[in-house]
Amino acid sequence: MTGPVEHRFVCGLPHGLHARPASTLAEVAAGFSSELSIRRADGTGADLRSVLSVVGLDVQQHDEFVIAAIGTDATAAVAALRSVIDAGLEDEEPPPPSASASACRVPPVLRDLGVRHIPGIGVCGGVGLGTVVSVDGLSLPPEVLAKPSQGSRIEVEDVRRSLESVEIELERRANSTRSNEAALLYAHAQIARDPALREAIEQRITQGMAAPAAVVSAAEHLAGKLREAKSEYVRDRAVDVADIALQVLEALIPGGLATARPVLDGDSVVFADMLTANQLLGLDRHYLKGLVLGNVGRTSHTVILARGMGLPCVVGVSGASTAAASGELAAVDGDGGFAICPIDVGVRRYYEQDQAVHSRRQARVKPLVGEPATTPDGQALEVGVTAIDAMDIARAIDGGADGVGLYRTESLYLERDSAPSLDEQQGAYARVLDAANGLPVIFRTFDIGGDKPAPYLGLPSEANPFLGVRGIRLYERHPDLLDTQIRAMVSAADGRPLKIMAPMVATVPEMAWFRDRVRGVSDRIEVGMMVEVPSVALSIDRFGQFADFISIGTNDLCQYWMAADRGNPGVSAMCDELHPTFLRALERIVADARASGLWVGTCGEMGGRPDNVPLMIALGVDEVSAGPSELVPVKLAVRKADASRCRQLLAEACELDSADAVRELLRTFVWHAELEAPDVIDPECVDVGVSAANKAEAIKAAVDLLYATSRTDAPRDVEDAVWSREATYSTGLGHGFAVPHCKSPSVRWPTLAVLKLAKAIDWDAMDGKPVHTVLLLVTPEGVPGGDGGDAHLQIFAKLARRLVHEEFRERLSACMDAEAISTVLLDELGIDRPGRSGAKPSRESQR
Ligand code: PEP
Ligand code: MG
Repeated sequence: MTGPVEHRFVCGLPHGLHARPASTLAEVAAGFSSELSIRRADGTGADLRSVLSVVGLDVQQHDEFVIAAIGTDATAAVAALRSVIDAGLEDEEPPPPSASASACRVPPVLRDLGVRHIPGIGVCGGVGLGTVVSVDGLSLPPEVLAKPSQGSRIEVEDVRRSLESVEIELERRANSTRSNEAALLYAHAQIARDPALREAIEQRITQGMAAPAAVVSAAEHLAGKLREAKSEYVRDRAVDVADIALQVLEALIPGGLATARPVLDGDSVVFADMLTANQLLGLDRHYLKGLVLGNVGRTSHTVILARGMGLPCVVGVSGASTAAASGELAAVDGDGGFAICPIDVGVRRYYEQDQAVHSRRQARVKPLVGEPATTPDGQALEVGVTAIDAMDIARAIDGGADGVGLYRTESLYLERDSAPSLDEQQGAYARVLDAANGLPVIFRTFDIGGDKPAPYLGLPSEANPFLGVRGIRLYERHPDLLDTQIRAMVSAADGRPLKIMAPMVATVPEMAWFRDRVRGVSDRIEVGMMVEVPSVALSIDRFGQFADFISIGTNDLCQYWMAADRGNPGVSAMCDELHPTFLRALERIVADARASGLWVGTCGEMGGRPDNVPLMIALGVDEVSAGPSELVPVKLAVRKADASRCRQLLAEACELDSADAVRELLRTFVWHAELEAPDVIDPECVDVGVSAANKAEAIKAAVDLLYATSRTDAPRDVEDAVWSREATYSTGLGHGFAVPHCKSPSVRWPTLAVLKLAKAIDWDAMDGKPVHTVLLLVTPEGVPGGDGGDAHLQIFAKLARRLVHEEFRERLSACMDAEAISTVLLDELGIDRPGRSGAKPSRESQR
């Protein structure tokens, strides 16, 4: 027995010792037999193997802490922990980048309606309408509460069994999904096996509690400790503890917690004081329209999942579960950070109009998305989808994908006891080809090994599985498996064109063998290879005769290029595709492939990120493959990136020395669209016969025109900016005309939007007359490349002067369509069409 061996540290992590670094320490600790603890300067301590207890210590940046070990391998354990801490524990960025939140802001139209709103904080945008459904949290039914303990031994055994079954089930689900949910499920499995939770429950049982009550009490105690933390991220983990407790309760009392998992049978808005991620996953997505939550943080997994589902969500609502009566109709407004219950005709009308504007905007983008993605200077980039689910593929193809850039067939081989049969595979591949609807699908033959084990293949355990028998290396040992797979693909294709590619190719003979194997089944298949091993990167020309196409697997290529394990948090900063040396490697690969006449796709994560589009264009790849949710943003990004400027950017990037420097360069890249402003006056921004009941509705309708035409992405910000001007003086200039205006960072380009109202409304105008024409003038403030300078002031001044003239007013009033109104305004205000070049001598200046 050695010890205690101690070492003192100062926490260097900007967000403190939160869940991610705590679990890295727990993983290292698990490799030693010594007793390992962590202690703060104030004497409070925790078991280092319990992530919950370590997180609960709330060690902040610059806090001092001591790690102590007692046991036979104490010295080695402390040395190992020192080395991971000194190397810099990965500090996941909490809150996540999209975790923005907006405090309650009720739009003027709804304020005017005088509806009762329930304030909160909007954490996922959008609007949802449905019947109120209240969901319970960790509350036990009275009959369960009344049940006495059966004796601590039995109760402890029950709890242990339940914890274990929850952990196993979570791991099973985590292993069978590749989506964002996997990380959450792994994190939850870790909580289920956390000694702090188990000990807290067992301690209560020993004191006489029955298992369910002990679970609730222990979870509340631990969650309460987390809620006291200074860090918001740590506070938000409290709901994860509740999540596990709820699952343990369900294992203990099957069917006994029905109110925690209601069945939705129509459009619903769920109100809950606390909703765990698993409760959310259990609700029917089809009927779930929004969430109104109490004590759930914006970085909680519940909110992260809701955001991934595009579900409007408001949190921080005090007494959420009783804020609205079950069965009433409610609206949740995630952009405004509030809910309304009950809703009346006026509210319905407001949101219906809102929805119509969204649809109009979407309809504008849709043809763009359906068209091939081409840069403004004419370079095309195919955008495929990476997916393993036929339904996702069908949706993506419908949403504009040019094909399937990567279908990972190993998804069929994992988490089972034997390989899938020919029939099973044939059915799955046929569904994928059907979903692709004639567009190309790149099937990657099974990539097993590395982090994707298939125990039934009896692979020997390896010290470095990522450098072991993986991908194509497995095929020579199991040629029958490969043959079956190729046969299944050929029969699924049933004459349709087929593209197959091999993973982890490192040498020419491997690829030659693979091609022969495919040819042995059919000679009508296009055979490709992934470029994900550095040995291939410098000899692409040698592969030309064995491959019809290549697809660069940036995930693996980067990890092997940088010698940094892609799954090791300790070196993930090193495994960064933006590193200039990696960009240079990609340049070389694409150039050599071009010289060999090979089609080049990219199927790693790198190519599927909209921010990286300028790099992919500059590299000159034929295709990128993106996840379903990134498909449209990637396509739209291509349309606004000049290839020539992208190439300049890549040349500069390759001369830098760090991935961060490249990231900064990308951040400041000026997209083509920001240089090319649309016309200030455009028939698209003119609407005739608009029905508005009052000034608030008219201003909203005018701002909606800007939103529908993508001149702003934040209509409510623009509305607020207009109203703040309106508060100081009325913009009703008289004779039935109003000229509301604003300068706002949420406006992209200077625009004059025009509304001719179906019925004149009161505007508090200077001459007291009602307003029939609204001329909304907006201009950007501090937007790179989009600053309208003082052009809008000149337009405003001219407008005001022209409106004094009856002839102008009559000319404008006589126009009955958007085109005519635009022409009159362009003419009278002396603006060229197209109007980018500024003013020409106007009729007015001639007067
Ligand atoms: C890659 O390595 O880039 C790739 C797409 O393959 P996987 O992520 O499945 O290893
Ligand atoms: Mg790979």
